[in-house]
Amino acid sequence: MTLTSPPRVATDGPRSNDDVRAADRAHVFHSWSAQGALSPFVIAGGLGSTVWDHDGREYLDFSSQLVNVNIGHQHPRVVEAITEQASLLTTVAPAHANATRNEAAKRITELAPEGFEKVFFTNGGADANENAIRMARQVTGRDKVVSLYRSYHGNTGAAVVATGDWRRIPNEYSRGHVHVFGPYLYRSEFWAQTPEEESARALRHLERTVQAEGPDSIAAILLETVPGTAGILMPPPGYLEGVRAIADRYGILLILDEVMAGFGRTGHWFALDAYDVVPDLITFAKGVNSGYVPVGGVIISDRVARFFDERVFPGGLTYSGHPLASASIVATIDAMRAEDVVGNAARIGSDHLGPALHTLAETHDVVGEVRGSGVFWAVELVADRDTREPLAAASMGAVKAALLENGVLPFVQDNRIHVVPPAVVTPDEVRRGVAALDAALSTLS
Ligand code: PLP
Repeated sequence: MTLTSPPRVATDGPRSNDDVRAADRAHVFHSWSAQGALSPFVIAGGLGSTVWDHDGREYLDFSSQLVNVNIGHQHPRVVEAITEQASLLTTVAPAHANATRNEAAKRITELAPEGFEKVFFTNGGADANENAIRMARQVTGRDKVVSLYRSYHGNTGAAVVATGDWRRIPNEYSRGHVHVFGPYLYRSEFWAQTPEEESARALRHLERTVQAEGPDSIAAILLETVPGTAGILMPPPGYLEGVRAIADRYGILLILDEVMAGFGRTGHWFALDAYDVVPDLITFAKGVNSGYVPVGGVIISDRVARFFDERVFPGGLTYSGHPLASASIVATIDAMRAEDVVGNAARIGSDHLGPALHTLAETHDVVGEVRGSGVFWAVELVADRDTREPLAAASMGAVKAALLENGVLPFVQDNRIHVVPPAVVTPDEVRRGVAALDAALSTLS
């Protein structure tokens, strides 16, 4: 696809993708990678569901970058709000009160379930989970956290324990994390045949683990409402409700991580809205402002908030409730409401993207399973439909290359294509993106 409008790149900036890649390789150290063989995809700019490079090529962003650009690239209201706030106040200490931060917290709590009135702001998703865990440890006086093998909750962990002053002490713990298998019927750990069986058996496995670990040692069960990076694993009927019941039975706090699944991704404001479950703490980041400024946080139930009325909360960050982040949150939520972005995500999922991906599954044997909702879909590719052997990495690489060749930037994870466009994606963009995927899968046969 070639750009028809004038290239929108910085006029005094680099001239080509090769220039950008060369400077990147000289100076930038990338996440989760051996650096030597990297050749990163270059992005110069974006608008809505489209990004472009320095060589005049456009791509449909079916990755939403790291599944965060829910409102699309360069939404004018959000960009304007950041610019306006920058001219007013660009930083403020976390201990001070600030009107923009108040507005951001108010907007978020208005969307949360009843009984959540306060927000603790962080710099991103990992430190949101760090601080939610710390709250649970303080409230329960226990230290272990149970989470799923198939999950991602972030990349921090050592900084507060490396700290020397008093802030280390309430956060030091010698026992830590216990993992269990969650429900995933397509690759069931429980020999289950139905979603109901998978749910019941995963719950029994969780409860037996809690009992074996010693319930009095467990502070929190931490789950992504819909595990994202692990494969967009939609919880089967009764699972989240059952986890809540187990947590209640043993005095354990339930933390739902909505960092990836929240703020419209599943076609609901929060993924948990689709289930009959209310956690004690909700963590968020990404879609809350589509990542225009780094931010995350913990939405705190009144019960947990009250606990800290008289006790010191041993956690904090210099940029907690940063004004640029706060302004972008206010504008994002207001624009998403005004433009019914969450409704669009739901309709795209039920009327366009979901049906189109299921049709792909009928035409390509390499598709093992399609699952998801809203603009949060996984297409799991297999070498053999009967054995469900995951498609080999080389073939996944070929699918990715074909998608890029056809002008679609995909999110590829293990043997899956995560089809995760911005929540503002249009039916026509979905049609084009799925057609590119169809063509890319055809190259395998
Ligand atoms: N939790 C979930 C569910 C995530 O998907 C991620 C990031 O992908 C995180 C936490 C960590 O967020 P961050 O990278 O902003 O620290």
